[in-house]
Parts: sequence; structure tokens; C-alpha cells
Amino acid sequence: MKISDSERVNIEDAIKRKIRAANRAAKMNNIRKVMSLYYDISGLFLDLGNEEKAKMFNKTAKKYEATLKIQEIIEKYINIAKNEYSKGNYQNVGQIYIKLSNIIKKIDPKRGIEFRNFGEKMLNLKQGQSISHQSKKSNQQEDIEQVLIDLVLICPKCGRDLDPDSDICKYCGTKIE
Ligand SMILES: [Zn+2]
Repeated sequence: MKISDSERVNIEDAIKRKIRAANRAAKMNNIRKVMSLYYDISGLFLDLGNEEKAKMFNKTAKKYEATLKIQEIIEKYINIAKNEYSKGNYQNVGQIYIKLSNIIKKIDPKRGIEFRNFGEKMLNLKQGQSISHQSKKSNQQEDIEQVLIDLVLICPKCGRDLDPDSDICKYCGTKIE
């Protein structure tokens, strides 16, 4: 598809705007928004005829989409585990956490180990026995949004990947808003 110079400029501007928006969303750990913006950016690169960049953004968007799906599954099981926990069914809680650790370790090995350790602790508890308040707080009330997130920032000028806490691009010096 042939596009005019003015269309090209418009699309390039839109890409820059969307990359900035995606960086802001990444800083707020809003993985859903980053994913949706990356799909948009991928489509815009395709309009420009830049298949390589289009593929790159599409691939990352798909990775985030898969992560979101896994998060939903984890969230669902954690809710079941919380319910079992409130009934004192620690064996069930332990089994759920060990199952979850096997899913999580593929994407976030450190978190996988934490889930496994908590599961084993639960399996070792006897019915009706309580655990310390502190470990309950750090494990059971885990903010699931913090699990599995590996968002990077993209420099709107040079397009390179940057660490999530970057304020300026270390390659070209562009300020990352
Ligand atoms: Zn840069």
C-alpha cells in the first residue's frame, strides 16, 4: 500500500504518541493498556510498511496477552484458596498453591518458589492450626497484579527497550515521560 508523505508523518506521530502512552501505562503496571497500545502500534507500523517493527510489537503484545490470561487463572485459584483457608482446609490451600507454583515458575521462577514454599507450609499445617499473622499477610494477601509483570519501556525516538525505571533513554538521551 502506497501512502502519501503527509499520511506517513501522521502515522509516525501517532506511533510516538502511543509509545509514550504505553510507557506511562507500563510505569503504572497497567499491562492490559500496554497490550492494547502495542497492538495499535503494530498496526500502525504495518501501515508504514515496516513489517519488522510491526512483528516486534505484535509479539510483545501477544506475550502480555498470555500473561494476562495466566493472571486471570491465578486470581481465580487464589480466590478459591482464600475461601478454603477461611474454612481451615489448609491441605486444599497447600495443593492449590503447589499447582499454581508450577504454572508461575515458567514465567516468574522466583515467584514460583514463593508459591511452592507457601503451599508446602500449608500442607504441613494440621486442621484448625493457625499460622503466624505475618506469613499470612505476605503470602495470602499477595497483590496478584504484581505477579508475572515484566514490562519494559520503549524509547519513542530510537525505539530501543529500556528498564522500567528509566527517565531518559540511555542510547539517544530522549526524555521518557
Ligand atoms: Zn532512544
